[in-house]
Formats: sequence, C-alpha cells, structure tokens
Amino acid sequence: MYDVTPDQVWVWQKLESIITDLLSQYGYQEIRFPVLEKTDLFHSAIGEVTDVVEKEMFTFETRKGDSISMRPEGTASTVRMVLQNGLIFNDPQKLWYSGPMFRYEKPQKGRNRQFSQVGVEVFGFPGPDVDAELLLMTHKMWQQLGLKNVRLELNTLGTAECRATYREVLIKYFEQHLELLDEEAKKRLHSNPLRILDSKNPAMATVIESAPLIKDYLSTESQQHFKGLCDILDACGLTYQVNPKLVRGLDYYTHNVFEWITDDLGAQGTICAGGRYDRLVEMQGGKATPATGFAMGLDRLVELILEHKLWEPKPQAQVYFIRDKSIADDQVIKLTESIRAAVPGLQMMLHMGQASFKSQFKKADKSGAQFAIIIGEEEFAQQVFAVKALQDRAFGQQQMSYQELLTFLQSQLNINSASNCNT
Ligand code: ATP
Ligand code: MG
Repeated sequence: MYDVTPDQVWVWQKLESIITDLLSQYGYQEIRFPVLEKTDLFHSAIGEVTDVVEKEMFTFETRKGDSISMRPEGTASTVRMVLQNGLIFNDPQKLWYSGPMFRYEKPQKGRNRQFSQVGVEVFGFPGPDVDAELLLMTHKMWQQLGLKNVRLELNTLGTAECRATYREVLIKYFEQHLELLDEEAKKRLHSNPLRILDSKNPAMATVIESAPLIKDYLSTESQQHFKGLCDILDACGLTYQVNPKLVRGLDYYTHNVFEWITDDLGAQGTICAGGRYDRLVEMQGGKATPATGFAMGLDRLVELILEHKLWEPKPQAQVYFIRDKSIADDQVIKLTESIRAAVPGLQMMLHMGQASFKSQFKKADKSGAQFAIIIGEEEFAQQVFAVKALQDRAFGQQQMSYQELLTFLQSQLNINSASNCNT
C-alpha cells in the first residue's frame, strides 16, 4: 500500500477524468459499493480454488464474529448489488465503478496490496456486439491517454457445455503427465484445471505448451459467437491476436476473454482484463442473465504514464501573486478575492506571509505558473500591476491597470481552455 503525493496525484486525476468522460460518452453509468463485503460473497462468486480466495484476501471477523473481507475485485459486489437493488429485472444495464481493491500479494513493481481498478460490467446483452463495444472503447481510452505499444489478446472459452467437455479433456491430459505438475497444479487438477494453464511456473511450461486447446472443443454456437466478435473488430480496423492459451481461471467465464498487454512495464504488463460471464448472475441466485465486462489496473497505467513521461506535468497554478511586505493582509486578500470573482476558473496562488521578492519569485518558479502578478507599495496605491511571464521570455514584464489585468487573465484562460480541447 502506498501514498500518492501531490507531484503524482495530478496523473491520477487526469487519468480518472479521461476514463470517466469516455464511459459517459458511451452511456455507461457509475455505481458505488462498499469496500467491505461478507466473505462468503467472494468465495461463491470468485470461486474457492483461485489465487484470490485461497491466499490473497484481507479477511477478518467483526466484533460479533461475522467474517468479512476487503473487496479484492468489483465483479462480485456488482452482481450482489444489481440483484439486491433489482436493477437487472427485465432491464439491461451498462455500469462502471472505480476505486481501491485489496489483495495480500507479494508487493513488487506493478503489484500492490492496495491498488485501483476501473471496472465495467454490462448485464442483459447476449451478443458479441457489446463485447466489441467494450474492446473498441478501451482501445479509444489508450489513444486518449497517449499509450503506445498496447496489444489485445483474445480467446474464447465457448459455452458452459464446451467448457465442461474441455475440462474433462484437460483433466485426462494432465493426469497422464502427473509427474510434471507442481503441487499447486495437482491441487487444482480436479477443481479448476483451466487455471493450470495460467501457471507462471517455468518448470511446467512444456506440459502446458502441449496441452489440448479449447478451440478444438467449441460448438458451432460458440464458434459463431467468437466469429461475430472478430468480424466487428475487423470491420472497425481494431487489430488483435487470438491467443488460444488465454484463459481466465474463474469458473463463470464463457465465450470471449481478453487482455490488453503492454511490453513497456516489464513482467506485470496486463493493464486491462475481462470477458463474458454469462453464468455468474444465476450462480448468485438471480435469473440467468448474460453479462460481460472488464477491469483495468490504474496503478499500472499511472506507472506507464510517469515512467515514459507521456504527459506534461500540471503546474500548481496558472498565476502566482507576489506582494510587497508593506501591503496589509486584508488589502491583498480583498484584491485577490475580487480578481477571483471577476475571472472565474482562474488558478491563482497567493503568496502567504511576509517574504522578500526574491524568495517569492523562487516559489513562483517552482509552482510552474505561467505568470507572476507583482504588486509593490506604490503600485498598490495607484492600482497598477506588473505582470511577468515566468515561461515565455518574449513577453517579459508588462504594466497593467486593474481592468487591463482582468482582460489579460481572461484571455489567457481562453487560450488555455482552447488548447486543452485540442489535446
Ligand atoms: P495477475 O494474473 O497478474 O495476478 P489477475 O488475473 O489477478 O492478474 P485481474 O483480477 O484480472 O488480475 O485484475 C484486472 C487488472 O487489475 C489486472 O490486469 C491489473 O492491471 C490490475 N491488478 C490486479 N492485481 C493487481 C495488483 N495487485 N496491483 C496492481 N494492479 C493489479
Ligand atoms: Mg492476481
């Protein structure tokens, strides 16, 4: 778990605002659910034989002895929430959430014990059209964030029936190679054999490499669903690689599964993962409802943006207000409040307390502001202001009346907001 200091928090804010703006442009609605849930929810929704439930949850007892856990992901809570609130009763839903998740993992680059996800969950649409929309929308996100080198890997797990057949084939195959499996794989052999394909143990690479593939066990319906998705992506020019080994270990996944991966982050390169989970709502006691979604890891996106300097740092303020010691606090504050009222939206930082001009200029430079407004004793008496450009040498320093100053600040704001629209 970690702190986000002010020099990095602007990346989080901008990232969240780009993502949430895009989600609302596609008509998705935000939901919020608690950080704590009953432990049973995660056991039943995520599955007993998964890394998350077996070894990653922060679980504890309440004073009355109930077992509760800090949410390790958002899909389980979303399904609980839509069922408890009757949201998907004859009504499709396109939903998203954002916030911290908790997993007791070995902390390392790209893997934290508290991390943030934005997740999208869609209920009520069985076809590949919505899966395609999710992929096109995430692709647009990478474009808007300025990410390069992100690739999409795609696979299908077919319907529940195809999966069941494939499961048996896999168990038989691994049973013939028991001596090559590690302890974890042996434990999973009968409960969650697909998860073995996900193993990161290099000693098992060969036996996994030669394992049978789901694509050879797909029904016509499953093949058509996947082809439907690929056709839309092809028509829209979105490139992807079909990775026949890509599985999501959770029992409820059906049809397409996908991961967006970058090679710019080292080993933890998956920035977004998801797929269709048509069986989960029913498994949680609801009416059978098709569902699909994904979760993206914001920590890894922030790391990518900072490490590769993809964005210009945001200044603390646009304007830094420098004042002579002799001008009383009440006078200065009255003046700056009137400027703020006359130029809504202006980001202006007023120097607090008494300090030499030299030290105030140092702070102004450090703030990253474009301009300093300087007011000395005499200027205050005559209500004239010196405006000094801190970045643009050609501008130099100019004298302005109060009215000229307001017009100038207004025009700067317009220039800034116009250039923001272009990026
Ligand atoms: P992995 O196999 O790498 O452990 P996962 O299958 O556990 O991944 P998901 O549950 O699919 O991951 O979570 C979706 C996304 O959330 C991941 O692709 C990743 O970007 C992010 N994520 C998951 N766990 C962490 C973590 N501990 N720290 C930072 N980001 C994480
Ligand atoms: Mg994990």
